Amino acid sequence: MKIGYSNNKEIRERSSSGGVVTSLLIGALENNLVDKIVVVDLDENFKPKYKLVSTKEEIIQAAGSKYSLMNMIELVRLIKSTKERLAIVCLPCHIRLLRRLENVKYIIGLFCGYNMPYEATEFLLKKLKIKKDDIIEMSYRGKNNGFSVITKTKEIHLPKYYYDFLNLMFVSEGCLKCKKFMNEEADISVGDCYENYTLITSRTSLGKELLNCADITTKSITEEEVFRLHKHNINHKKFGFSRSILKVFGRYFPVKFLGWLCGIRKRFKDELYYCKTKEWSYEDVGRFWDTVEEYDKFNEISAHNKRFSGTQDMIIIPENSKILDIDCRTGDGAVFFKDKIKRIICISPSENFLKICERRLKDNNINGKTLLLKEIPIYYEAGCFDIIFCFETLEHISNHNEFLNELNRLLKLKGKMLLTTPSKLWSIVHFLVAVFNIHHSEGYRRFLSKKEIRSLLNNNGFKILKEKTSVYLPFGLGLRRTFICEKEY
Ligand SMILES: Cc1cc2nc3c(=O)[nH]c(=O)nc-3n(C[C@H](O)[C@H](O)[C@H](O)COP(=O)(O)OP(=O)(O)OC[C@H]3O[C@@H](n4cnc5c(N)ncnc54)[C@H](O)[C@@H]3O)c2cc1C
Ligand code: SF4
Repeated sequence: MKIGYSNNKEIRERSSSGGVVTSLLIGALENNLVDKIVVVDLDENFKPKYKLVSTKEEIIQAAGSKYSLMNMIELVRLIKSTKERLAIVCLPCHIRLLRRLENVKYIIGLFCGYNMPYEATEFLLKKLKIKKDDIIEMSYRGKNNGFSVITKTKEIHLPKYYYDFLNLMFVSEGCLKCKKFMNEEADISVGDCYENYTLITSRTSLGKELLNCADITTKSITEEEVFRLHKHNINHKKFGFSRSILKVFGRYFPVKFLGWLCGIRKRFKDELYYCKTKEWSYEDVGRFWDTVEEYDKFNEISAHNKRFSGTQDMIIIPENSKILDIDCRTGDGAVFFKDKIKRIICISPSENFLKICERRLKDNNINGKTLLLKEIPIYYEAGCFDIIFCFETLEHISNHNEFLNELNRLLKLKGKMLLTTPSKLWSIVHFLVAVFNIHHSEGYRRFLSKKEIRSLLNNNGFKILKEKTSVYLPFGLGLRRTFICEKEY
């Protein structure tokens, strides 16, 4: 067993370990041992792709490990598309199939601890807030030896273990059960070693031939040292300890668990603050909602949508009604009722939500406008709306009387309001899910009892026509109150 590195500085800089694989491939080509090489390069969308290459530059361009599962059928098609003699680099699980293909002359086998679908890369890019269109360069083993990405505006170089950590969430079922590590059936097996060195084991006469024509520097290493360096993967693959832990808890468990704990103190303090604050402004609410990322993704759950689906039969929306959706969030209410809507004004204190809402109105061909809610009174004339939607908003209002009085002003006489709000029981659930990072926080809030809501509506000129309480969570924890009211005076 040996360790080594390429004698070419450019290769060393672009490669994963010592650049030995790249040098072996160049040596094979330049000494006419093969006609072409199969490498893994990134395509124009920064997705790993098998490529047939025949120049030194192309081989160097493809240096570096790509930690992403790839399509074997594409690989076989590519190899069968030519009769020329090939050298190829592969993972242990691919080698048996490749050995059956006649034109594959040399196989360089990478060690392999695990692999993940491309989804893991996309997840990481998303978390780094990087759009594919902005990427100039990306590498799984760049600066810092880890995931690197350079965009038009920033450079990010993560340590190697950051990408490795995604393993807990994305490792494929096959890799979890895989016992292959050192690619024993290859002509030469290679793996990581000390920084800037590749670990090399030549296993066949063809392997020795390749080594002889590569421009590399090598020295010996003992088996004990190799075992020490790769103890973790040897234990994991051959004895299966960590695999059995993952099997017991499921691969998502550790990540979810850590997600629950990270930042728990701050979230706890924030929730206490939101619950204890007695008075807040519409601008405070807007600023809070603007901090909530991926609101729609979080709320793609049926309990959220029940505020619309569970109440739609309780109200008849007359044709040509002008509707006001107060604190419309991202416009999901307007989209849900779109077949019944002729004109709608969506109001929210959040600028971010309104931007999304505007787009949704347009995409769904809804005749609507948006307005930023900063204070009361609201810009519109008295009595100009036929219907008001007030979905899960009352609990986020600081001054209930002022708010309901304003809604009454905006509604025509005998106009209807559809109001939903969670029961008081919901407050503890909101608190806990936000503290444990299971759901976004709801920010400033104060939940009202049924009695309080009834009294507020009556005191502000509304007559309650219908009332419903629905259970919308397992265990009967979450109750939603729905009121259909009419403007009485
Ligand atoms: C998914 C994966 C898991 C790995 N796990 C381990 C591990 O647990 N322990 C360890 O010691 N080493 C592991 N390696 C190998 C290690 O990352 C290096 O590839 C190896 O040390 C060779 O380094 P080098 O500098 O000599 O190669 P380089 O000169 O950088 O050349 C690498 C070559 O591999 C090719 N290649 C890149 N990605 C792939 C891929 N997915 N499939 C096939 N060919 C590819 C490239 O085209 C390039 O020609 C893994 C590699 C991969 C791709
Ligand atoms: S862990 Fe095993 S199955 Fe997964 S990519 Fe590596 S060799 Fe293939």
